[in-house]
Amino acid sequence: KSKPKIVILGAGYGGMIVAARLQKSTVVKDAEVTLVNKHNYHYQTTWLHEPAAGTMHHDQTRMKIDDVIDTKKINFIKDSVVEIKRDEKKVVLKDSVLDYDYLVLGLGSIPETFGIPGVQEHAFSIRSVNSVRLIKEHIDYQFASYNKQDEKFDETLTFVVAGAGFTGIEFVGEMTDRIPELCEEYDIPRDKVRLISVEAAPTALPGFDEELVEYAMNVLESRGVEFMINTPIKEVRENSVVLNDDSEIKTNTIVWTTGVRGNPVVDNSGFDAMRGRIKVTDDLRSPENDDIFVIGDCALIINEETERPYPPTAQIAIQQAYTTANNLKALVEGKKELETFKPDIKGTVASLGGKEAIGVVGKRKIYGNSASVVKKMIDNHYLFLLGGMPLVIKKGKLKMF
Ligand code: FAD
Ligand code: NAD
Repeated sequence: KSKPKIVILGAGYGGMIVAARLQKSTVVKDAEVTLVNKHNYHYQTTWLHEPAAGTMHHDQTRMKIDDVIDTKKINFIKDSVVEIKRDEKKVVLKDSVLDYDYLVLGLGSIPETFGIPGVQEHAFSIRSVNSVRLIKEHIDYQFASYNKQDEKFDETLTFVVAGAGFTGIEFVGEMTDRIPELCEEYDIPRDKVRLISVEAAPTALPGFDEELVEYAMNVLESRGVEFMINTPIKEVRENSVVLNDDSEIKTNTIVWTTGVRGNPVVDNSGFDAMRGRIKVTDDLRSPENDDIFVIGDCALIINEETERPYPPTAQIAIQQAYTTANNLKALVEGKKELETFKPDIKGTVASLGGKEAIGVVGKRKIYGNSASVVKKMIDNHYLFLLGGMPLVIKKGKLKMF
């Protein structure tokens, strides 16, 4: 009898942890396991605001997949997933087609544009290594070109960040570190530069602890961030953004961080989904297909206390990966009973750049330098889960204070 085929789509937080768990188990003997990813490297999406602003080199956020995954135990295919043909149990990749018995869908998310005109064409996004190094190069170029201009244009040194959710706030925080360096490097007075955070809701970080939001806004304002709250953006143009009241901000740089939706492969494959996210069963499978596990930003799970979906986070993706690896092992061993997924939310910590952060850990509020240390420890902890101390030493954030 031939071995069952397990195919993992996406080497993000979810896919990598599933692969790392399976390679340590008997599953790699009893089944044929394949991991598919667009690139031959894995990157930590949660660090991307740093290389986007240029406060960290993008290589620190990524690692070769075969440095962490033993490709003698797990086949690795570098290719892009196009579509899942569920009836035929096949995955169509750009360059080939794979058969599966069990599938893990962990392709992450893409920026949500809400169909706002011009976003796709003119805005940058914090999404992948390639998307963030483009932001960094573009920002550097704005500074480099400013002094060469005979007539000075405001849009050159005006940076607009759309959405003051966690991604927008963390990016703005990094920018407050980077801007003084760029001003020094390119002989530009700091007061020529504008950094504007535009948020549609009545507050930054809607839904988060109000005291911590106020703390974050004060820290960021003291470092030169202008907040425009209650201000939905309704259009993005080549050199400006248009606000709800039809006023315009001239800018060459708009970074779009208004939330995410599930990977388009979900919709392309005809799954029943909400904004590209599949509402999964208790054991993390697609309700339509019991051979497909869905984890990370492609999965939707409901918080029973609030009756609202959990926000998509790496924290949940990692926990789902542990459950999925256990459930795959059970299925390969012929067991029928699968583990139910229960999220164990430890808290939320967001950096504000430099040595500042805010967060809630358990029921405790943390802020300032101690929160920033906690944030770095969380980042290192993931590397530890994936590759133990050697990976922490190679890629971790070791400068704590
Ligand atoms: P990802 O980790 O995004 O991985 C998806 C993988 O699939 C990628 O490797 C990608 O290359 C690959 N892929 C995509 N499409 C294809 C395709 N068609 N074919 C092949 N491969 C493909 N969450 C937290 O819990 N804590 C935080 O502090 C935090 N900070 C964040 C900071 C930023 C700046 C951002 C943007 C997000 C942050 N998040 C945080 C959210 C978190 O990053 C996501 O929830 C998490 O990455 C989801 O994991 P995933 O495995 O679903 O997808
Ligand atoms: P988000 O949904 O958390 O925030 C998006 C923000 O954009 C919201 O405040 C929304 O009101 C605003 N917005 C929407 N449309 C707008 C418009 N037209 N004009 C202006 N503002 C608009 O999304 P995100 O910040 O991209 O985060 C994505 C996910 O990643 C979330 O689940 C988040 O919790 C997670 N994340 C977590 C951390 C952390 O824990 N440190 C960091 C980053 C991201």
